Formats: sequence, structure tokens, C-alpha cells
Amino acid sequence: MDGGHVEHRPAGQDLPAVELRRSTRRRRSADANLEDGRVVVRLPAGLSDEQEAALINRLVRRVTGADRARQQGGDDALAARAHELADRYLDGVRAEVVTWSTRMRRRHGSCTPATRTVRVSARLTAAPGYVVDYVLVHELAHLQVPDHSEAFWRLVDRFPRAERARGYLEGFAAGQLEAAGRRAAESDPDD
Ligand SMILES: [Zn+2]
Repeated sequence: MDGGHVEHRPAGQDLPAVELRRSTRRRRSADANLEDGRVVVRLPAGLSDEQEAALINRLVRRVTGADRARQQGGDDALAARAHELADRYLDGVRAEVVTWSTRMRRRHGSCTPATRTVRVSARLTAAPGYVVDYVLVHELAHLQVPDHSEAFWRLVDRFPRAERARGYLEGFAAGQLEAAGRRAAESDPDD
């Protein structure tokens, strides 16, 4: 312990859970990273409430991919891409709602057939375009086949780079786990 303290803020509607670690010594600048689906923000001492709130907001947006999602056209651009892919590969199936999600822990995407809602993890804004396309195709295909049966994979594999995208996603998930473990080990002496 360094004499600082930890504050937990639960996840909100479209926000991940945040853990604030306030330091009373050593730390001069703020930083943040994702650990187990929550955002851990390390704060220096001596900030006003307003400075702290603005800093937290900025770091959470950066680390979750929310900023990149907006730069890439936000939910509107993602929905337009989903419709394009659906027309090309999935017989024009339509999702009602297509959004980026900043709350996904390990999942890359999700589909709720009852509300025809497709979500893609905002972490993937850093991935190549064909990977996001694959996640969209995968989740859209669940509007036609909810399970992971052979019929489902036949639909998904209409997307030409499906195999390559799955390989990328496996590596991406493994890399994140490794990075999370490394950071946790590094921060032990300080926190
Ligand atoms: Zn699936």
C-alpha cells in the first residue's frame, strides 16, 4: 500500500465499471488500463473534483475504444456497415440496433435476437476492418440461426476472411490476458 485508496464505481448504462486508485505519493501523472472488463484509473493526488472528473472521463473513453469508435463514425457508421455486409453475405437480414459496446469483458460481440440488437466491442476499433466485419457477420448470422450449429457456420463462412479473422481474434484475446497479467504484476509494489 502507498497510503492511497481505492474507489469502485459500478457499470452504468453504457459505461464499464471503473476502479479509481488514488495515490498520495510517487505518482505524478494519471493512467488507465482495462483489467477484467473494468477500467482501472490511477490518479495523482491534488486534483480538484472537476479536474478529476474530466480526467477520468477522458481516460475511460480512450481505454475502452469509445474515442476511436466516434472517430470511425460511431454507431451510425457501424450500422451502415452491418447492412452492407448483410446484403452481401446474409440475404439482407436486418438488425434493428447496431452499436459499439464499451462494456464487453472478453466477448467480441453479442446478438440479442429478441430485440434484433447487435453489439460489437469497442476494443475492436483498434483491429483491422475485416475483423470488425467478421464480428458483424457472426452476430448478424445469429439473427437467422441463434446457436453455433453447422447451419450457422455455413452462413458465417460465406464471409471470405472468416478463418483469418477467427485467428486474429484468438491472438487478440490471448494478448489481452497476457498484458493484463503483466500490468497487474508491475503495479503490485505500488498499489
Ligand atoms: Zn456466436
